[in-house]
Amino acid sequence: MSIPVDIKIKLIQAALDARDAAYCPYSKFRVGAALLSADGQIIKGCNVENASYGGAICAERTAMVKAVSDGIKSFTALAVATDVEAPISPCGICRQFIREFCKPSMPIYMASAKWTPKDVNATEPLLLEQTVGQILPHSFGPEDLEKVA
Ligand SMILES: [Zn+2]
Repeated sequence: MSIPVDIKIKLIQAALDARDAAYCPYSKFRVGAALLSADGQIIKGCNVENASYGGAICAERTAMVKAVSDGIKSFTALAVATDVEAPISPCGICRQFIREFCKPSMPIYMASAKWTPKDVNATEPLLLEQTVGQILPHSFGPEDLEKVA
């Protein structure tokens, strides 16, 4: 499923904006994420760190947890942005977390900090588009639990 260009711009911009709320006093690495729900809502998330480092949660999972806790479990796209010039992709834990609720064909837009709306159809280094299946191939998901004979 293709995301309309105007929605794609809004989603990537929301991920860039979401960085402003990042709580990252330890890593100083701001991350913003924005999920597009199947019914067209944009849910933002930022990374939230903790003095007990293991308690930190990434922007992608923050957005996902916000959505799911509000009853939203169907998504059509995700955008991720940092302050780094090159696109940064979700960490391993987030990839698995995304996999729980999103189809392997769902697009993930990873935007450079230098991305602007005129770059909506750009490629690396301004924008990297990959699917969930591309960043987490041969993945394990909820349907696998149904395969027990
Ligand atoms: Zn992560």
